[in-house]
Amino acid sequence: MEANSEEEIADAVLWAKERGLPLFVLGGGSNLLVRDSGFAGLVLKIGVMGVEACGRNLFDVGAGESWDRFVEMMMYMGMAGVECLAGIPGSVGGTPVQNVGAYGQEVAETIESVRAFDRETFEWVDLDKAACRFRYRESLFNTDEPGRYIVTRVRFRLRANGQPNLRYADLQRRFAGRGDVTLMEVATAVREIRRSKGMLLVEGDADCRSAGSFFKNPIVATERLAGVAAAIGVEQSKVPHWPAGEGKIKIPAAWLLEQAGFVKGYGEGPARISTRHTLALTNRGGATFADVERLQDEIVRGVRERFGITLEREPVLVG
Ligand SMILES: Cc1cc2nc3c(=O)[nH]c(=O)nc-3n(C[C@H](O)[C@H](O)[C@H](O)COP(=O)(O)OP(=O)(O)OC[C@H]3O[C@@H](n4cnc5c(N)ncnc54)[C@H](O)[C@@H]3O)c2cc1C
Repeated sequence: MEANSEEEIADAVLWAKERGLPLFVLGGGSNLLVRDSGFAGLVLKIGVMGVEACGRNLFDVGAGESWDRFVEMMMYMGMAGVECLAGIPGSVGGTPVQNVGAYGQEVAETIESVRAFDRETFEWVDLDKAACRFRYRESLFNTDEPGRYIVTRVRFRLRANGQPNLRYADLQRRFAGRGDVTLMEVATAVREIRRSKGMLLVEGDADCRSAGSFFKNPIVATERLAGVAAAIGVEQSKVPHWPAGEGKIKIPAAWLLEQAGFVKGYGEGPARISTRHTLALTNRGGATFADVERLQDEIVRGVRERFGITLEREPVLVG
């Protein structure tokens, strides 16, 4: 069922409840891994549209809008805050769910509030940023209260004429020595980098038939660094990592995969690692859930045996 208004969403939830059917909320479907047996219940696609300016630098956006189109609109309007998130597929309503992020930016940085339907109380709620409890790829919506809220609108606070974010090393290199970089240039550069890695949806590109990054970058206690380095016989300084809060570090999952032998193009069946991005598990044609799961399990096992770290899947499992 597709719901294009808040009334239709409330009706659909009630309809499923009365029939005892499980309900799955679908955005753009870009972050899903669906079992071969499918989903026995109501799949509710959120089609609430509209982009409204609602105050100084504030935009109220329907959950069903395309995220990338919204980013493009903001770039034309000279609004800073989402330029590094250009080219991420999916809907606006999907972005707060896993606090999407890329190239040194996270959507939580610009979210002011989220309007949602609470499936427990059957009430509409406006959740401010603190209530959304955003963390790295986590939020109230996918971790603390998974499935409880249906996002219908997201309010963003951007910066008129703001400077683009150039925290990411690839972007710094590309624009080195230039003080006048525009938002549009950064968004275009991000799209180009994504395209070169098969992380932009491009018709006919086999490497982009994925759900984006398949594994999250693991966050571990700082003391674990020594063990990771010892596992491959290198000095600690050779292990890429960055701080992730008190006593914790984040290690790039792609690096762990490569060190454990899961390099670009790895795999023999229809599910393989992308030839341009170590973290993307791709469907080379006709891959089933079982094929993807087999590859996932092999990688998780291999990385755990090598480093004692258990990787977590990023895409949502349906069914
Ligand atoms: C090629 C490619 C590149 C990607 N690159 C990135 C990246 O750089 N960074 C990143 O963070 N992600 C990335 N992703 C993952 C994906 O694009 C994002 O997670 C996106 O925000 C998912 O949105 P969606 O609308 O497609 O959600 P879906 O895939 O439809 O759903 C994902 C989850 O969100 C829930 N959901 C969706 N809409 C709503 C709603 N309105 N209310 C409540 N729950 C909802 C669903 O129930 C499900 O649990 C990439 C994916 C692909 C295919």
